[in-house]
Amino acid sequence: MKMLLNSRILDVPHGFSTRVGGASQGPYSSLNLSWSVGDESAAVEENVRRFAKAAGLGRPIITARQVHGIRVIAPPRRLESEGTLPVPTEEADALVANDQDRAVGVKTADCVPILMHAPDAGAVAAVHAGWRGTRSRIVKEAIQKLRDLGAEPSKLRVAIGPAIRACCFQVGNDVAEEFRKGFSAAVVEHRQGQTFVNLALANRMALIESGVAESNIEDLARCTSCEDQLFFSHRRDRGVTGRQVSFIALA
Ligand SMILES: [Zn+2]
Repeated sequence: MKMLLNSRILDVPHGFSTRVGGASQGPYSSLNLSWSVGDESAAVEENVRRFAKAAGLGRPIITARQVHGIRVIAPPRRLESEGTLPVPTEEADALVANDQDRAVGVKTADCVPILMHAPDAGAVAAVHAGWRGTRSRIVKEAIQKLRDLGAEPSKLRVAIGPAIRACCFQVGNDVAEEFRKGFSAAVVEHRQGQTFVNLALANRMALIESGVAESNIEDLARCTSCEDQLFFSHRRDRGVTGRQVSFIALA
């Protein structure tokens, strides 16, 4: 099993981390990349070291304090050396970059990580889309930011990473109704008296609405909840679990 998964649609440095190959124990076993979920910091430090080696970036991965909103930031250059995965300072749920100084990333354990590359603008974006961000179409906000930097949406290349899928993402009737109204009945599934939402499909619909070509979207189609050997899952692990990091940078 691999520490990093990749998308065929992206030809810039990027990756979706798994839980494989780290030093953490117990519910954080083993490649937990978050300092704020109760894991031992020495283990996380070692994980970041191994992850950095596998990612081979040679520059920091900037993340944000994720709050299930729709704010997109372009993190500023930082002068000080701050390691591979500095502690985030700004609240946001999507990040863009249009130079090679840094990678941008998001941390997830069920929420949908979405990576974008705008080859025409020389820009990249990392998006954290939980059910709230998906419902609020955070991908549209990220694409708007990329357009501001000169990107044409039809040229965007987009990868949808490991997340909880319609097989496992059971919701109440109120959430299901919001998704049916906000997207279409296709994103809501009913099985054995239970209701499930397909977050990846909702995001795909929002991407296409924003002008992304369907052929430029790759969905890795991996379920964090089903694949317990490969991924942390907040829902499956009842909140006590690690985090994956998904990152992208310009070549
Ligand atoms: Zn599943």
